[in-house]
Amino acid sequence: MTEHEVVPVIPAQGRGFRAYSAKHLDQLIARAGLSESERLAVRAVATVLPFRTNDYVVDRLIDWAAAPDDPIYRLVFPQADMLPAEDIKPIADMLARGAPDREIQAAARGLRMRLNPHPAGQLALNIPEIADEPLPGVQHKYPETVLVFPKQGQTCHAYCTYCFRWAQFVGEPDLKMATDDMARVVAYLQSHQEVTSVLITGGDPMIMGAGVLRHYIEPLLDPRLEHIESIRIGTKSLAYWPQRFVTDPDADETLELFEKVLAAGKTLALMAHFSHPRELDPPQVATAAERIRATGAIIRTQAPLIRTINDDAQTWQVMWRAHLRMGMVPYYMFVERDTGPQGYFAVPLARAVEIFRDAYSSVSGLCRTVRGPSMSATPGKVCIDGVAEIAGQRVFVLHMIQARDPSLVGRPFFAEFDPSAVWLTDLRPAFADRFPFEPDPADATGLWQEELLPAG
Ligand SMILES: *Cc1c(COP(=O)(O)O)cnc(C)c1O
Ligand code: SF4
Repeated sequence: MTEHEVVPVIPAQGRGFRAYSAKHLDQLIARAGLSESERLAVRAVATVLPFRTNDYVVDRLIDWAAAPDDPIYRLVFPQADMLPAEDIKPIADMLARGAPDREIQAAARGLRMRLNPHPAGQLALNIPEIADEPLPGVQHKYPETVLVFPKQGQTCHAYCTYCFRWAQFVGEPDLKMATDDMARVVAYLQSHQEVTSVLITGGDPMIMGAGVLRHYIEPLLDPRLEHIESIRIGTKSLAYWPQRFVTDPDADETLELFEKVLAAGKTLALMAHFSHPRELDPPQVATAAERIRATGAIIRTQAPLIRTINDDAQTWQVMWRAHLRMGMVPYYMFVERDTGPQGYFAVPLARAVEIFRDAYSSVSGLCRTVRGPSMSATPGKVCIDGVAEIAGQRVFVLHMIQARDPSLVGRPFFAEFDPSAVWLTDLRPAFADRFPFEPDPADATGLWQEELLPAG
């Protein structure tokens, strides 16, 4: 078989969307020139971390001549060294000797539980209650914004290797958090007049067809929810499947739904995840952005900074400028979260702040809407503003963009400079015995410290 016959693409019928999963992995990575033992190690990683891609990513985005070093290849294909060799070897051996699936799954599961599947205390901490009953599939961390995880939106058109939501994709029922009960979501929002923004997230909500998406969006247009000023949809579909807005059978119906949000007097924002400027090259992306904006919706862009994928200023500068040309507004540069293979993708905070500054300083003011590098940690979104020398001491200058306690937002604070720190938990306060978001030891419950510890 030639490479293109590996998995035939269904002709443009219906969505024409063709997903590739772990069972196609070996043939796909052979195309990147990996040896048999390397392929075995990659397959072993893929028993632990989720793998899914599609024909558009494989045929249009990846530069196979540059694989396995190609950034888009690295964005979706597991790497042999993403997890420690001593953890992966036993699973690779099981695969090699054709061990029973049950045995392989048990080993994979054990490894997963050690990877901090729900960072930033998300599972227990941010689930709200209504009438003393928890409301799973909803998170309410910052007063003005509620997150909704739709049940049918917990997958994506392709999975990013660095995804912090990876635990939701691996079929561990107790790790999933999603809802389809919009009546309860509406009741919750009605009793929380401080909420002005609802962020529909996943997975990728745009994996849902227009009919299902309507089930989640229309209830938010209820006149009783006048205080909800904006609806946001977090999505990577513009990068992984722009056809969703152009040629898919329900593309027009989806855009009509967007128009309906605008007609109800609310702002609709697509929070578009783009990891690399290559994702903006196919002409469908500009067309999709144009069609979305023609509904009156706005597009804001965000991505984490990832080692070996986008860890240089030039990449971000080129990406932000391309966004602007397509009418999209740069929003956040995130620091990779403390979950999954973080050690593999982490960029030191000292380097992250240099990359951000070098990119930021070389784009026009119209792109300087972007904020970062920002860590979404338990106490809130912490932005690293820079490195300074104060009273003879080298420190990180930080501020909170978002905080559980809104009175902490926008107040500068300091941490001891540490060239190897990659996350908030690596930092020590400077000129103070605790960070502003840490409880006063005099009335401490110790809660914050416990939450930041890995789950297992
Ligand atoms: C980032 C984030 C939000 C939205 O914050 P904005 O600064 O308004 O984009 C809301 N909830 C959680 C849990 C978040 O991490
Ligand atoms: S698109 Fe988002 S949710 Fe989906 S795999 Fe990538 S980072 Fe995770």
